[in-house]
Amino acid sequence: MEIPFFNYKHVYGQYKSEFNSIIQDIITRGSFILQKEGDQFESNLSNYLNTKYALGVANCTDGLYLSLKAAGVGSGDEVIFSSHTFVATASSIYNNGAKPIPVECGADHLIDPDSIEQAITKRTKAIVPTQLNGHVCDMNKILNICEKYNILLVEDAAQSLGAKYKNKFAGTFGQSAAFSFYPAKVVGCFGDGGAVVTDNVEIFNKIRLLRNHGRPDFGEVECWGINSRLDNIHAAILDFKLKQYNKDITRRRELAVMYFERLKDLNEIKLPRDISEDIDKFEVYQNYEIELRDSNHRDKLKDYLKSNGIGTILQWGGKAVHQFKALEFNISLPRTEKIMSSSLLLPMNTSLSDSEIYYICDAIHNYFN
Ligand SMILES: *Cc1c(COP(=O)(O)O)cnc(C)c1O
Repeated sequence: MEIPFFNYKHVYGQYKSEFNSIIQDIITRGSFILQKEGDQFESNLSNYLNTKYALGVANCTDGLYLSLKAAGVGSGDEVIFSSHTFVATASSIYNNGAKPIPVECGADHLIDPDSIEQAITKRTKAIVPTQLNGHVCDMNKILNICEKYNILLVEDAAQSLGAKYKNKFAGTFGQSAAFSFYPAKVVGCFGDGGAVVTDNVEIFNKIRLLRNHGRPDFGEVECWGINSRLDNIHAAILDFKLKQYNKDITRRRELAVMYFERLKDLNEIKLPRDISEDIDKFEVYQNYEIELRDSNHRDKLKDYLKSNGIGTILQWGGKAVHQFKALEFNISLPRTEKIMSSSLLLPMNTSLSDSEIYYICDAIHNYFN
């Protein structure tokens, strides 16, 4: 069997004829930039998440950058984030002129609230927790910290569209949040795409201006801005995919249960949280990140799975943000580094069949035998 880590052809193949007619319709009408499909998608996304506003942007990185910019984050400010995240979380802080402050993640790989609190200084302006792997952080603790120290919350929800904490969606806890529609994300399009959601009308209005060169719908330029619009074709594709998304979530959770049931007896591996482990949390399993109790096994298991036709990857290439020398953090976060050296992402996406999951689990058992 050949099981790639992610099957990029499936992004189109899953709904080929529907996509063909959507694309043909849009390009035939010449309806490319900021058209009604964009408005429709924004309105359906905000309805789905129960937020007042949603805005399509070019990608999630821009969504985070614009969220922080609209909130006034800039030079002299510090912004706390979990180092076990994509570099984009940190670059969106850095590119606003603020200082990214990486902190540890906990055993669940999500930002550790105690480490957040230890990192707070007079300059701390915001916290950007990453809702990693389709899971949600301990939002009560994080919200309490934000309230106690009067700190802004912006969520990096790139990986967690549809995940919930105490029945409230990831991305709806802070002043705003950004989602990614990169092809391999839970809802992926045919290139780059993203969205910001917020309940705050001022933030909404600001980002709406900023994403389009500071230009309002009518009248002259009002401020410096950038070009970060979501293409209308993508908005239409995403609007269709959002309607199918609950099916995809159900399937991802089924796959997670299959992995859990077939791997839970292996003491050598620490598995992601099972769907029933914490009733406060509803996971969408963007990724299935396992951790080897003995990190020496990680690369060997990866190679063994590869020789059996199974693709796996190390998230972020195996390094947390503070470990990239060129970014000059010059600090050590031992718990995060331990997790980075012992974790592996197994295939997790809706193209996978039951028998492919069984094959992967059997191969992992064979490795340890
Ligand atoms: C994918 C990802 C991003 C960036 O999303 P883009 O749409 O590619 O800009 C940011 N943060 C996390 C945690 C991600 O996984």
